[in-house]
Amino acid sequence: MVTSARANELFRPLVFLSIAAALMLFVGGLTMMYNIDNTARLRDQSLVANGVKAGILDLYKDVWAIAAWDDALINLERRNSEWAAEYMGRYYYQIAGYDYVFVLDHDDHLFFAAHKGSVRAASIYTGFAGGMHQAIETVRKRERERQNRAQPGAPLRLPLTVHNIMRVNGQVYIVVVALVQSDFRKAEQMYARAPIIVAAYPIAGNFLSHLSARYLQPDLHILQKQQAPSHEMARINLNDDHGRYVATLEWKAATPGTWLATRLAVPALAIVILFFLAVLAMQRRSWRAAQALIASEARASHMAYHDPLTGLPNRLLFFDRLGSALEQVRRKSTTIAVHCIDLDRFKEVNDTFGHQMGDELIRAAAHRISGICRRSDTFARLSGDEFAIVQLNASPLAAARLAERIVEVMAQPMDLSGGRVHVSCSLGVNTVPEIVGDMEVSAAEILRQADLALYRAKNNGRGQYCFFEPEMDAAMRMRREIELDLREALDQGGLRMVYQPQADKYGRIVGVEALVRWHHPVRGDVSPAMFIQIAEECGLINDVGFFTLREAFAASHLWKGLKVAINISASQLRMRDFHEKISALVEECGVDPCDFELEITEGLLLGDDPVTHTVLMRLRHMGFSIALDDFGTGYSSLSYLQRYPIDKIKIDRSFIANLGVEGEARAVVQAIVRLARALRLHVIAEGVETDEQRDYLINVGCEEIQGFLFSRPVEPAAISEMYAHNREPALRTVD
Ligand code: C2E
Ligand code: CA
Ligand code: CA
Repeated sequence: MVTSARANELFRPLVFLSIAAALMLFVGGLTMMYNIDNTARLRDQSLVANGVKAGILDLYKDVWAIAAWDDALINLERRNSEWAAEYMGRYYYQIAGYDYVFVLDHDDHLFFAAHKGSVRAASIYTGFAGGMHQAIETVRKRERERQNRAQPGAPLRLPLTVHNIMRVNGQVYIVVVALVQSDFRKAEQMYARAPIIVAAYPIAGNFLSHLSARYLQPDLHILQKQQAPSHEMARINLNDDHGRYVATLEWKAATPGTWLATRLAVPALAIVILFFLAVLAMQRRSWRAAQALIASEARASHMAYHDPLTGLPNRLLFFDRLGSALEQVRRKSTTIAVHCIDLDRFKEVNDTFGHQMGDELIRAAAHRISGICRRSDTFARLSGDEFAIVQLNASPLAAARLAERIVEVMAQPMDLSGGRVHVSCSLGVNTVPEIVGDMEVSAAEILRQADLALYRAKNNGRGQYCFFEPEMDAAMRMRREIELDLREALDQGGLRMVYQPQADKYGRIVGVEALVRWHHPVRGDVSPAMFIQIAEECGLINDVGFFTLREAFAASHLWKGLKVAINISASQLRMRDFHEKISALVEECGVDPCDFELEITEGLLLGDDPVTHTVLMRLRHMGFSIALDDFGTGYSSLSYLQRYPIDKIKIDRSFIANLGVEGEARAVVQAIVRLARALRLHVIAEGVETDEQRDYLINVGCEEIQGFLFSRPVEPAAISEMYAHNREPALRTVD
């Protein structure tokens, strides 16, 4: 998910970078533009300046046409004004374009003045005279130098010429000063100093248009005031021969840099934008890649800490949270509770409806319990149908309330895809009180204690919760010991079999039930009801089971014709190859399966497990008959009696014990007997201790009887003896 803060983080440097790039481009462009313009202007200025120089040289040449002429020397030395008027006045104005022409004699006295071709009074020279001193002096000085160096017959040289730039009556002039000299040496100079021609050419009209055309500066013009520098205008200053400012030539500067810049601005901007977009795209890509990495890492760590089926925290995370909760307990002196939760009939549902439904049930249960937990609680799936909760800030009362709520909601039926199921749950609760000082309690220990409480809750009949109490530890330790000792007993022949007779209504022994006995060296006789359960839980049941089968098979040789009933526990029948193993044993012991009855409990049939079904069918096929033990206590269903290959039902001893005590018991027993008859099943009652019980049973049609009244479970030898005396009935018969 792209948060706006992250997007900003992404954008800020980008925008900065782009602005910086644009700025650099702008400043660089501007500098370049300025430099190009400047160079162009300097070049133009020097061109025009050179043009002015060339123009002045051209003006010199026009002056020379008269100045280097024998006639001119002759006439001007003689101060011939008429000649000057005729040959110079008009020539300088009309042909050469000079506004003023003056002639000075060898004493530098003006004797001729003309303006625009017309002879004028000497006074018009006044405006020029002030600015002419240096030029005239220079000419005279050079004249002297020439004369000093003069050699007879030396080639003619160009007339001495200088110029000045000056402003007269608001007009700027180039004033050319030339010394008159002979050209073909026809005339001899009369005086040491020759006359001087002074001609003033206006920097205007012709001169400017000529410059304009030649240097392609159409708007070239003259200014008579100094200007502040400007980027747009190119200028050259015109100074007089003292270096003083006279005027400025000005024209619009060529700006190739600006021209280039305006044309490049759009492409440059486009490049900046493209650059920005490219960098943005790259950033986004790498950002996305980083996001994907972060996400996959988050997924991986979620997977490492969560259960894929329910999405709940797994065992790892649970212990992590429990660890930090214990840390809190240590620091903040609060209390926490740990709940261990187990679904009571998960296995049945799983076996009956398959794993898919089992998964569905787990998910539904997780959902239900999640709904009760607070956000601060950690509700985790530890394994299979085992869940646990770390409840923070939990007083024993709060813990009990939560446990109660969970038992309550789990008692409600659940509608799964395969139909409605009733699955209750059991809880073990362990509250962790304030931990004083540095007392170390490990998370594993806390959970183990909660698990012990769960075990107790299950044993107490399921669908309830139980708090952990220290003595449970002792009980558990005993179970562990029993487990270890049972292994040893199995290895060292500590188990043995006794047999309890089953009699017909005439009191004749017709069969025996094989019952296992364990005399513990320290604990004395341990009830099979207890150690068989432990054996089932710890996986020893197969060893115990085959021990009893082998013993019973062996003992049966003693009493040919007597049916021997053998208890088979559910976990034995769930073994896929049970029938193969039993048939191997049949082989080995040389017995006929028809002489044996296998007692199974109703609970086994509940799951409708196909494996159980097949195994039972095969056993039946081999010749064993099947008896349903403890009938009436479990989840009796008539359909089981029809679906499974059952030969006999064994009415549970609790009904028998209640005969004569509870009115209902009689009706139940009678109904069971009727049912058995209707289904053509044999029926036997167990736990018969009194004559009344026996009489009643025989009265309602029960065929066989087992119980202390006839005999306690006894050693095989005692059975042999009993069987031998079968001809003499020991019991009184009803009919
Ligand atoms: P169960 O199969 O119902 O066995 C009958 C139990 O009732 C036996 O207890 C027997 O001693 C007792 N009993 C017999 N007649 C009377 C009577 O008149 N009154 C009373 N109160 N009890 C009577 P036991 O031998 O302690 O066995 C307890 C349970 O242990 C058995 O119940 C059976 O579920 C299991 N068990 C015993 N031996 C084996 C065995 O070899 N294999 C397996 N899988 N289970 C066994
Ligand atoms: Ca039994
Ligand atoms: Ca029984």
